Amino acid sequence: MAAFRIDVKGIVQGVGFRPFVHRLVEKWGFTGWVQNTSYGARLELNGAREGLLRVVEALKAEAPPLAMIESVEFCEVPEQDFDGFEIIPSEAGEHMETLVSPDVGICADCRRELLTPGDRRYKYPFINCTNCGPRFTIIKSVPYDRASTSMADFPMCADCAREFGDIRDRRYHAQPDCCPVCGPRCFYLDAEGREVPGDAIESARRELKRGGIVCVKGLGGMHLACLPLEGAARELRRRKRRDEKPFALMCRDTDCARRLCRVSGAEAAALESFRKPIVLLEKRSARELEYLSENGSLGIMLPYTPLHVLLMGEDIDCLVMTSANISDTPIISDNGAAVSELAGIADGFLLHNRTIQTRCDDSLIRIFSGREYPLRRSRGYVPYPVTVPVGGRYLACGAEQKASFCLSKPGHAFPSQHMGDLKNAETLDNWERQIEHFSALFDIRPEAIACDLHPDYLSTAYAEERSEAEGIPLLRVQHHHAHMAACMADNGLEGECLGLIWDGTGYGSDGGIWGGEVLAGGFGGFSRVGSIRPIALAGGDAAIDDIWRAGAALLLDAGCDTARFAGEEGFETIIKMLKTGTNSPKSSGMGRLFDGAAAILGIRRRAGYEGQGAILLEAAADDGEAGSLGFDLAEADGLLTLDWRPAVREMAASDEGAGTLAARFMNMLIDAAAEQLLRAARGCGLRRVVLSGGVFQNMYIMKRLPARLERAGLEVYTHSRVSTNDEGLSLGQLMVLEAHHVLGGTA
Ligand code: ZN
Ligand code: ZN
Ligand code: FE
Repeated sequence: MAAFRIDVKGIVQGVGFRPFVHRLVEKWGFTGWVQNTSYGARLELNGAREGLLRVVEALKAEAPPLAMIESVEFCEVPEQDFDGFEIIPSEAGEHMETLVSPDVGICADCRRELLTPGDRRYKYPFINCTNCGPRFTIIKSVPYDRASTSMADFPMCADCAREFGDIRDRRYHAQPDCCPVCGPRCFYLDAEGREVPGDAIESARRELKRGGIVCVKGLGGMHLACLPLEGAARELRRRKRRDEKPFALMCRDTDCARRLCRVSGAEAAALESFRKPIVLLEKRSARELEYLSENGSLGIMLPYTPLHVLLMGEDIDCLVMTSANISDTPIISDNGAAVSELAGIADGFLLHNRTIQTRCDDSLIRIFSGREYPLRRSRGYVPYPVTVPVGGRYLACGAEQKASFCLSKPGHAFPSQHMGDLKNAETLDNWERQIEHFSALFDIRPEAIACDLHPDYLSTAYAEERSEAEGIPLLRVQHHHAHMAACMADNGLEGECLGLIWDGTGYGSDGGIWGGEVLAGGFGGFSRVGSIRPIALAGGDAAIDDIWRAGAALLLDAGCDTARFAGEEGFETIIKMLKTGTNSPKSSGMGRLFDGAAAILGIRRRAGYEGQGAILLEAAADDGEAGSLGFDLAEADGLLTLDWRPAVREMAASDEGAGTLAARFMNMLIDAAAEQLLRAARGCGLRRVVLSGGVFQNMYIMKRLPARLERAGLEVYTHSRVSTNDEGLSLGQLMVLEAHHVLGGTA
C-alpha cells in the first residue's frame, strides 16, 4: 500500500475531468480526493503502489478528449484515513483560471443514441454530453453554467436534471444537456420565410434532393447547402455571386471523402477528430469536380452536429456547405437576418431556436508532414489558448484583411477565431465586440497593446484609440517581423533565428511595401538581410486584382516585350505608368511575383479572389518537372536581393507549356531561397529558419523547400498551431510586445 499526491497541469476544468477521475479511481477501489487548482487539478490517493502508478499513466493517456494535459507529476505522501473518494471544493481564495471549451463535434456515444430507436433522444438534433456539443458559441459570460449560455432559455426537465447531477452519468455537469422534452427544436421555413408544417429535417432533405439550396443553421453560423451537382453548385455560385472561389463539402463519413480525394491516415484522423475542421485534401483527379474547386484540392469536413447527421441521413453522401454571408460580411448567425439577407438565395431554411452567441466559422487545415497546418483557426480550436512564454496581459490587434486578435495572460495566449476583412463595417464591429467578449471571458485587462506598423489598417486605428483612451503603451510591430515571431512562438523557439517570410503585402520599416523577406533576429528585434527585387504596381492596389499589370511590370523591367497583354483594358495607360513610374509604388511582395508569373504564363490575368493567380499557378505546375529557371542574387549594404529578371526572360521566350514553366518558376524560387538563406546563415551564424507568410499555403513549395534547406544543414520550422497567413500574425505581435515590455521599451 502507498499514498500518492498527483498534480495534473493543463486544461482540465469544464471538460469532464473530475468525473473521469472518479470513474478511474472507483475502478481501482482507491480512496482519497480530487480538487481543482489554479494550474489544473490535484489528487491524493491511497492504494496499491502498482495500481497508483497505472492511474498516473491513465490520467495522461485516457483523459477526456477536451482535456489538454501538459504534465502529470506525483510524489509519495504519508497515508491518511479516507472514507472513500470525493471531489472537494477548490481552495478558497485561489485564483481560478477560467478556460472556455471550443465547440465539440458529436461524439460516438451521442451518435449511437441519436440513431437508436427507443432512446429518449432518438433523432433529437440537439443531443450532446459532457464530451461533445456546443460550448464557445453559446456562452455569454463566465462562470460557465447553463444560466450564462443560450441554454438559459430551456430549463432542464427532471430526467435531464437527474443525469446532470449523477457523477456516474455521461452527462454529469454537461451544461447544454437537453432532450426533446426540455431542449431547443428546429423548424423549416420556405423561401418566403413561412414555417412548413411537418418534420423540419425531412422538409430540408426533400428540398436538397430536388436540387434546391437550403440555409442550415450550424454551431457558429449559417451555411448554404446543396447537393454537389453541377447545376445546383453553379446556381449557388450565381445566387451568392461567388464566381470561382472553391466550395467546401460535408461528407457523410471518411469513406465518402475517400471516393473524391486521397485521404492519408493523418488526414482521416483530423477529419474525425472532435474538432471536425475542414481538411484540404488532394482530389483523386485534378480535373474532376472543377465546378466545386478549380484547383487540385477539395476542402472536406464531416457532419459535426447531430442536426448534420440527421440531415445527411442514410442517402445523402455529400453536400456543398458554404458559409452563409453576403460579400465579405461576417457569417450570418441570426434567424431573422438569415431570412431577410438570404431572400432570393435560399430555397428554404432549416433553423432552430437556440441562439448563436458568438459567430465562429469552420476551421480550415491541411496535414503537412503528419501535423496539422492551420489555414483558418476557428471552430473546434477557439477559444483554447496556446501555451507560450508570455508573462503579461496584452492585446495584439493583428492585420486587416485576414483579421484576428490575440489576448494573453501569464503562460497562455488566446488567439481569436477567424474574423475576415476589417474593411467591412460589420466585420470590424464583430471584431471589436469579440475583443470585449474575450477580455471578459478570460478576465484580461491589457496592460499594453500591439498593432501593425501599417498606419492605415483599421486594427491600427483601434489600437491607437484604445492606447490613448486607457493610457496604456502601444507598440507597432513590423508585419513580417510579426509573421516571424508567430512562427517562432508556434514552435516554442526563443533566442535568434532566420525568418523566410513570403507573403503578399506588408508595411515595411522604411515605409515601402515588403513581402519577400529574409529577416534575422528574435522577439526583441530584427534586421532585414534579404529581399526580392521590387515590382512596380501600376495603380497600386488595383494591380492586386488586375494581375496582368504585375506581369507587364516584370516583363518591362526584364526588358521583354509586353505585347501579350495588349488586349487588356487600359493597356497603353498602364505601360505608360510603368515606364514613367506614375502611381506605381514598388513592392517586394512574393505574392506579386506569383501574380506576374501566372499572367505571363497565360494561367490567369485577373484575380477573382485573393491569391487566385498563385493558387492556379500551383495547380497548373507539372509535379514531375525537375528543371529550374535562372536568377541572380545581388548583395548591397548587407541586403541579399533576389533578382528574378533572368527567370522572367526565360518564361517570356520559352515555348514550353505553362505546367512545365510554372514548376520551373517555383523550383527557381526554391533554389533562390536556399542560396539566400545559406548565405545569410553564413553571415550571421544562425542555422534555424522559420517559414511564415501566406505564400507558404503553397504545397508545391512546402513539399520541397523545407527538405531542401534541411539537406543543406539548416533547421526548418513551420506552423502547426496558428495560421501561416495574416490570421496567425497577432500571436507574433504579442510575443514582440512581451519582449519589448520586459525590456521596458514600449512607451
Ligand atoms: Zn456526446
Ligand atoms: Zn430534458
Ligand atoms: Fe502577411
